[in-house]
Amino acid sequence: MKKLVILLALAASLVAATPKKPKLVVAIVIDQFRYDYLTRFRSEYHGGFDRLLTQGAVFTNARYIHFPTVTAVGHSTVLTGAIPSISGIIANEWYDFGEHKEVTSVSDSGTKLLGSSGEGSSPHRLLVSTVGDELKMSDNRNSRVIGISLKDRAAILPSGHMANGAYWFDPKTGNFVSSTYYFSDLPGWVKDFNSGEPAAKYRGQTWLTHKMPAEPEKLYSALEATPIGNELIEAFAERALTAEQLGKHDVTDLLTVSFSSNDYVGHRYGTYSPEAHDVSVRTDAIIGKFLQTIDKEVGLDNVLVVLTADHGVSPSTEEAAANHMPGGREPASLVRNAVQTALVKKYGEGEWMVGSADLSLFLNRSLIAQKNLDLSAVEDVAAAAVETVPHVARVYTRHQLAAGAVANDDVTRRIVNGYNMERGADVEFVLEPYWVFGSSGATHGSPFSYDTHVPVIFMGPGIRAGQYHEDVVVNDIAPTIATILSVETPAGSVGRVLAEMFQ
Ligand SMILES: [Zn+2]
Repeated sequence: MKKLVILLALAASLVAATPKKPKLVVAIVIDQFRYDYLTRFRSEYHGGFDRLLTQGAVFTNARYIHFPTVTAVGHSTVLTGAIPSISGIIANEWYDFGEHKEVTSVSDSGTKLLGSSGEGSSPHRLLVSTVGDELKMSDNRNSRVIGISLKDRAAILPSGHMANGAYWFDPKTGNFVSSTYYFSDLPGWVKDFNSGEPAAKYRGQTWLTHKMPAEPEKLYSALEATPIGNELIEAFAERALTAEQLGKHDVTDLLTVSFSSNDYVGHRYGTYSPEAHDVSVRTDAIIGKFLQTIDKEVGLDNVLVVLTADHGVSPSTEEAAANHMPGGREPASLVRNAVQTALVKKYGEGEWMVGSADLSLFLNRSLIAQKNLDLSAVEDVAAAAVETVPHVARVYTRHQLAAGAVANDDVTRRIVNGYNMERGADVEFVLEPYWVFGSSGATHGSPFSYDTHVPVIFMGPGIRAGQYHEDVVVNDIAPTIATILSVETPAGSVGRVLAEMFQ
């Protein structure tokens, strides 16, 4: 009998190729963190990045396969595995033809902010499920799912429709806030955290050469563009961990934490600046502290940690020029003016574009209908005008994308993946590599490697540590976690399971 039991146990262990189910999944997203930020500053990492790089499965060639590479789209990909053509999250902001106004990826006039005043936010524009949604649907909503960030979209989109709560920072009040989408009143532990005025103590402190202002509203928005913003997120995430007893239930819980300050710093100071360097090193320490707390509270043996970023970043034009690299800046108005002029010349006076998106053009369809024009013909005139603008590499119209009448190369595939037939713009275009809109700092959004190549690291029970150099996509994260948790694959997933890292 004893022998039989041993044999059965042995057989079971041979079959069980998936890692054991963790008590807690922690998904960490760093806002604007190119893959090479892991390697450039490697010798200075002694905290969370060091631990993950040493003990985790490190995918050195993970990419996004969509355009535009911006915050909302990246965050909507990580735990859905979807692409914008399926998820409906096509940008940070876009002109919604149904609502006849510019919307954000999470704006929801049916909700109110809690902890501050004004309109709230919700995941109602996300058309697919997240890992957290699948987890909760699998166990009668017993799992606890929480999302945290400085930005609403970065807290809401990874955690999903069924999250117990998503929390973000409100620079008007210095509070962590949420929305009536989740509950009618903030949980006690959130009010308690806010009542300690955690942001106020940074008044007058300096970071490198930057002194924090004294006046509250100026202070709160200044903090976002320093490592202090990430410290606030970490402190709040620790409070969530203990207050919500994450990892201490019979079922698996899920916590998503997005560190936003790296993005604010990178935009303002540039990719190769001392500030970008310092915020990376400080983020390593902050994540290290967070992992230590998780270890103490839950035990890292019981926790699956995943780390990635929502997008990379291009060098600032000045940095590129100093290195004799190509690229430059031009005003976004160059494109809009060229299109407006061409359409007035061809069809007469009128405001021919709606909304203010930089990288896409939404045409005034009411005006087009009123003048009885053919939308496809107007798109062609607009596209021809965009092509005359220097440093425009590619132009695509809605009707070309709808008909699949586009080239089949890597850049175009990213445009197609990013294009949602219901919500997409009338004209999409891509600038040449290293060319950006805007007058200062660095930015992202392109389909090129500096914006698409990001870290993907898994660490936890049953994960085989080491470097994995094969090409993978960020969309692989969600189906991989779903497999480890034995739950349904999120609805829009186009990724595969990274089974090569299973022990
Ligand atoms: Zn950004």
